[in-house]
Amino acid sequence: MALAAASSSCSPARNLSHFSSSSSPSLPSSKPSPVSPFFPCRQSQRVVSCSAAASPSSPFTEKDSAERYRRDGWVYGSGVPLPVSAHQNFSDRENEIALQLPELKRLLEALRAARRAEAGGGGRGGPGSVSLVGTGPGDPELLTLKAVRAIEQADLVLYDRLVSNDVLCFVRADAKMLYVGKTAGYHSRTQEEIHELLLSFAEAGANVVRLKGGDPLVFGRGGEEMDFLQKQGIQVKVIPGITSASGIAAELGIPLTHRGVANSVRFLTGHSRNGGMDPLYVAENAADPDSTLVVYMGLSTLQALASKLMNHGLPPDTPAVAVERGTTPQQRMVFAELKDIVYEVKLADLASPTLIIIGRVVALSPLWPQSSEETVVLKTGELCSSQVE
Ligand code: SAH
Repeated sequence: MALAAASSSCSPARNLSHFSSSSSPSLPSSKPSPVSPFFPCRQSQRVVSCSAAASPSSPFTEKDSAERYRRDGWVYGSGVPLPVSAHQNFSDRENEIALQLPELKRLLEALRAARRAEAGGGGRGGPGSVSLVGTGPGDPELLTLKAVRAIEQADLVLYDRLVSNDVLCFVRADAKMLYVGKTAGYHSRTQEEIHELLLSFAEAGANVVRLKGGDPLVFGRGGEEMDFLQKQGIQVKVIPGITSASGIAAELGIPLTHRGVANSVRFLTGHSRNGGMDPLYVAENAADPDSTLVVYMGLSTLQALASKLMNHGLPPDTPAVAVERGTTPQQRMVFAELKDIVYEVKLADLASPTLIIIGRVVALSPLWPQSSEETVVLKTGELCSSQVE
């Protein structure tokens, strides 16, 4: 059976001492970007939109990337499928899972045999464990030491789309990796299939690590996985991660709460369980000028949310920011007042993953334009001279 190797684009460094201090998320950061995008800007009074051409290479573990197929190559046996650019349809998904099943079964059998031998030889031979590990928003320096240690000790790593490629560099070269990520409207594996995979491998004695972007218990379905596994008698350990709200707010210099400006913060999802718009009913309670709102998965429902918030009394000039691929070298962001944020986000053509922060605290960011003469410094160190409209 071919062994999975960690991404070939990983630096050989596999321990924390090799992290470059130049990429620490200080403010305003001047981490050089691997791409050199041109940042056109437009500004009308306090509204600034900066957008870079989207980088062709994603910092995340996109399902259709060649890297992802290389990493998970072991699971396809000899028939490694070519990466596809478009979303696969349902039957392709079935085919892919069918392709993966024989290798997964072989691995399970090997683990079970090893466990039986260990038990026969007086070894422990007990069930393995599952660690739900949060990997933060993308910058590998935002991993916790606990997360790094858990990743380094894993036999099998199941990873989501929002786990950045850099984070996967900590996986041992002999560990097996399996992508189980989802993209909006398309699921690589259903949640039930993921539950079954986690259970089967833990029962067979493997040390399973389930990687999730951000924090596993913030809009990450970590609670469901924990609940399912615990009911089956599997020991589950949760290793928290820096949720994107915290990581991105720190990156932009936005205090999520601030004395006299915001006395609470609310994390909101723009998605409902069935993909509809219904969770936006919370706008009624969330339209509080003294509170900060952080919207996860909110791109497709932003227009409805912004109107509802304003209809329920949130001032239209409330500062807001939308951040795509936050804390990665490909980060892009748009600052605008609430009344303009939808237009500006569309203009910049921001895509998932994007996080939206709404509230007076956004204007405390050193990046928030103070005047029409403002010059905006973006993370990549590019100077973006504003043009007065
Ligand atoms: N568990 C994750 C959230 C998963 S929901 C966490 O704690 O952060 C997925 C949503 O998180 C995305 O749609 C986006 O709104 C947000 N998100 C996660 N990582 C992000 C990133 N690097 N940049 C921007 N938004 C991000």
